[in-house]
Amino acid sequence: MEKTFPLNSEELKKLTQTYPTPFYLYDEKAIRENMRKFTKAFSIFPKFREHFAVKACPNPYILKILAEEGCGGDCSSLPELMLCEIAGIKKDKVIFTSNETPASEFKYAFANGNIINLDDFTHISFLEKTLGKLPETLCFRYNPGSAKHGCNSIIGKPEEAKYGLTREQMLEAYKVAKEKGVKHFGLHTMVASNELNPDFFVDTAKLVFELAVEVKEKCGVNIEFVDLGGGLGIPYKPEQKAVDYDEVAKGIRAEYDKIIVPAGLDPLGIYWECGRPITGPYGWLVAKAIHEKHIYREYIGLDSCMADLMRPGMYGSYHEVTVSGKENAPKDHVYDVVGSLCENCDKFAVQRELPEIDIGDLVIIHDAGAHGRAMGFNYNGKLRCGELLLRTDGTVKEIRRRETINDLFATLDLEGVENFK
Ligand SMILES: *Cc1c(COP(=O)(O)O)cnc(C)c1O
Repeated sequence: MEKTFPLNSEELKKLTQTYPTPFYLYDEKAIRENMRKFTKAFSIFPKFREHFAVKACPNPYILKILAEEGCGGDCSSLPELMLCEIAGIKKDKVIFTSNETPASEFKYAFANGNIINLDDFTHISFLEKTLGKLPETLCFRYNPGSAKHGCNSIIGKPEEAKYGLTREQMLEAYKVAKEKGVKHFGLHTMVASNELNPDFFVDTAKLVFELAVEVKEKCGVNIEFVDLGGGLGIPYKPEQKAVDYDEVAKGIRAEYDKIIVPAGLDPLGIYWECGRPITGPYGWLVAKAIHEKHIYREYIGLDSCMADLMRPGMYGSYHEVTVSGKENAPKDHVYDVVGSLCENCDKFAVQRELPEIDIGDLVIIHDAGAHGRAMGFNYNGKLRCGELLLRTDGTVKEIRRRETINDLFATLDLEGVENFK
């Protein structure tokens, strides 16, 4: 996939006069268009919904845009549930897929009318004790173990993953929950992360559909929705191809017609919890080249660092790097493009062929719209950058300011230390 950026070099240079680098920029128009394409592909199901994984881009402006496009939210903490509320996402369109959840957060989600997705069999009694009863609607997260050939560098093998219930536990869980008065049931699984092969998702849906039928036969429980989790990948590398939403939807529909319809489970809700493909390609980290260094390798130092975008340093992930205004220049230099952290893994690109970079050039890191700013941290006293939204009318709104030293010191007892002996 060819990498694009919504502003030309003049427009970007002008923007940096108002908002100095580094910053994240999101493209509202592209996010909306992509969401419409996703929704259209899955509208071949009688009941479809995307619950945007809030962790991927936890900004209420982004959530509001997605809510307008029909999305719900997928949360795994109290602040994420609160962000959905702030963004105006309807409470019953918010699923709480958490793990190792404190009682207080279950209480909030229940009182708030969110859908609770349990990560373990023992959480049934934990939830009952916490709430005094079970909610009317309950979902369970399935871990297929070695039944699934899934092996994925981020999420690992299912049998080694900490998430979800085993097959036997799933069957027992629906039985017990039904006896305890639960009326509506969902079935969740997520066994991949950043997967580009459409067959993977068709296989996963088949596995989940077969379990839904088994639950009906063995527990007398009619599953009303399946949640296929997230894990749909994006083509970070230029030679990779985007997942064809239509191909995934049609593949799943074929299994639906084969398994769900004859079992009398139609209409079954088909839900997703995607984050990465929804905002990932439509967000960029923009930084400036402030140093160059010539030792055993050639280095370009940016005014940003791994604290703004952790993926390359943490996972060794590839992110395309372009230089504003030099899109068509020959890539006749090889650089390590690095940040300022005192960690040698703080490299946005390693031994990358790029055009000659001059000090002051604006460097664009692509596909940073999901798991980008959200994974930032403050190690080394680094202040995280802000977020800008390019509106559909071409104007730019700052939707999160950059952090200040006061933000960083806010949790410290600065007065107490003066009298501390
Ligand atoms: C992270 C996560 C998602 C979103 O994954 P993406 O790769 O961003 O699509 C969805 N559901 C759960 C439970 C997750 O942990």
